[in-house]
Amino acid sequence: MLKDYSITGWPAKTKLEENIRPYYQYQFEISFVHDILLRNNRIIIPSSLQLRCLEFLHRGHQGIVKCRARAKTSVWWLGLSSQIENLIRNCPQCVEHQINFKEPFLKDSFPERPWQKIELDLFKIDSWYLIVTGYYSRFFEILKLNKMTESVIIAKLKTLFSRFGIPEIVRSDNGPQFQSEFKKFAYDYDFHHITSSPYFPQSNGCIEAAVKIAKSLIKKNPGGLDLALLAYRTTPLECGYSPSELLMNRKLRSHLPILPSQLNKDVNAKLVFKREDKAKDTSIDQFNKRHRARNLSELKQGDSVWVIDLRIYGKIIDVLREPRSYMVETNFGIYRRNRYHLVPAPYYILSPPLISTLPQPQPSENSVNIDSKLMNKSSREVSTNVTTGIHNSSDNVVSSPPWSVPPLRRSTRNSKRPAYLKDYVT
Ligand SMILES: [Zn+2]
Repeated sequence: MLKDYSITGWPAKTKLEENIRPYYQYQFEISFVHDILLRNNRIIIPSSLQLRCLEFLHRGHQGIVKCRARAKTSVWWLGLSSQIENLIRNCPQCVEHQINFKEPFLKDSFPERPWQKIELDLFKIDSWYLIVTGYYSRFFEILKLNKMTESVIIAKLKTLFSRFGIPEIVRSDNGPQFQSEFKKFAYDYDFHHITSSPYFPQSNGCIEAAVKIAKSLIKKNPGGLDLALLAYRTTPLECGYSPSELLMNRKLRSHLPILPSQLNKDVNAKLVFKREDKAKDTSIDQFNKRHRARNLSELKQGDSVWVIDLRIYGKIIDVLREPRSYMVETNFGIYRRNRYHLVPAPYYILSPPLISTLPQPQPSENSVNIDSKLMNKSSREVSTNVTTGIHNSSDNVVSSPPWSVPPLRRSTRNSKRPAYLKDYVT
């Protein structure tokens, strides 16, 4: 029919059959040349051959943009563009090797006063240390831990809070040292405890910077840390004030000679806010430009996903209050992950109760790195629950993609928990 119309001319749209009507808008681009139906220079592929053609377009598993670009030089049919997108979103090879774009940095508002919002972390240099830093002042305390338990950490914080007061917001990672006992501590001491997604340093830049400085001070000053800390605390930050001035509204006396009148100078809070806000905007801008950041789609409860860093499939069971944070149920436990680590895998069906028929995660370079990272930093342990036992099964759980290209063949090995995940499940 298309062929006839392209030769004899098109009737009015209302006179067209239902199935031809969508082509009406392309009537001036459709032609019949040398027995081939064309839209401009692209061959119009009949429906019986479209599936094969899609496979050819996707050969090599290039991304959506590249597949569309290939199509633009060769073939066309109605709905091709969305079919390409669907194909790639439902292709396990593509999903399992996807690297997400960085998302635009979320601006964390600068606190109104010192010690209002603080952040904690744990790090190890021979011994374990607890580090506590204020968002406002960047004044940090390093506390050596003889035992890495929730109660030891809480005891240290109580001492600290008796000195500086109780902050309003305390931020930490989601490690085992900041769980039930810590939540009770937060309730008793009346502060709000917020946590960040594991392995997502972008969300906790303040503490990352403090840990870096602290580690360097410890390594460079094996004879004693006190004066090194005093030097850091009395050195002006970019805003012009030192951490001690920002926290205590006075300069601390050190070995460096200073006019006594300088020790008593007030901090101009408005100026601090203005400068910090501007610095923040600049660095966010730079980050977004450098990483060509763009927003990833929001996920919802029940969505199937591929967890990039763990190399396993899972299902979103909770959308957390913290931005871009999700709880993901997998056959190996429940994990909290930032959107950055998740790729939608709509072809993957996980229905409760979880059936343990997922393909075995592939130990890869990436996963080995994660393993060693975990071993070295037990505070980053992420699992919060055990979900199911592991059964052996050879069922294939990859369903047909919605647009009905036959499912890609998957390995049907027995599902076995990989060794590198052993520390995840409690
Ligand atoms: Zn693919």
